[in-house]
Amino acid sequence: MSVMVDIRSVHKSFGSLDVLKGVDLTVRTGEVTVILGPSGSGKSTLLRAVNHLEKVDRGAITVDGALVGYRRSGDRLHELREREVLRQRTRIGFVFQNFNLFPHLTVLDNITEAPVSVLKRPRKQAAEHARLLLDRVGLADKAGAYPRQLSGGQQQRVAIARALALEPKLLLFDEPTSALDPELVGEVLDVIRDLAARGTTMIVVTHEIGFAREVADTVVFMDDGRIVEQGAPGDVLDRPRHDRTRAFLSKVL
Ligand code: ADP
Ligand code: MG
Repeated sequence: MSVMVDIRSVHKSFGSLDVLKGVDLTVRTGEVTVILGPSGSGKSTLLRAVNHLEKVDRGAITVDGALVGYRRSGDRLHELREREVLRQRTRIGFVFQNFNLFPHLTVLDNITEAPVSVLKRPRKQAAEHARLLLDRVGLADKAGAYPRQLSGGQQQRVAIARALALEPKLLLFDEPTSALDPELVGEVLDVIRDLAARGTTMIVVTHEIGFAREVADTVVFMDDGRIVEQGAPGDVLDRPRHDRTRAFLSKVL
């Protein structure tokens, strides 16, 4: 299988705080990678680096063969790569913990905004696609609603539809169900499960262990800026080799 994301020896600090201390990770096309780990271990920073929201200090990240996170000051090629990176970013979908929908736009307009303004799609075509996506996330009847009129679970499903509208080759989820009331978690996980079944390449940061066990091809455990352990869900979740993984799992299970 081809490689979608290749993270090599990535380091990142904020001032004197070393947040990523040499991370290596490969995500294959069509696979689901679930990242687990305690708060502050660097999970969000790693996702943000993949999406170029965060520049790395050392190491390299490629997405679908194109360099994304890369750092070498004074390198003229670097400038050219920057432009390539911005282009690349439109093909990476990012779903946040807090949905981040535009409050003043209807559900339909939330979904069509980027395809129309970034991809220059005709509005009618974008709207047709948006309705298909809304149907897929079970919200066909909410096209005209505003975010505040929806539950958290519905808002997050709209956010997923919005990410899909750019036809991303890679989807990143940063704790997509952490802000939801417990009874709304399932409907969002169902949508992500459906995407996995369709072969969508995804990296999902979550504390939902049951979901990880069921959907992940690879489970990654991060602690203190490093990947401590990674492998098949049955190995990492049921037979963890490291004390830190065991300690974490005993807290979230
Ligand atoms: P996680 O998602 O695993 O909880 P984060 O990647 O959000 O971890 O954060 C890792 C560490 O980096 C934390 O100590 C956090 O406070 C710090 N951090 C994250 N972003 C910034 C930033 N922009 N400036 C300074 N510190 C940051
Ligand atoms: Mg985080």
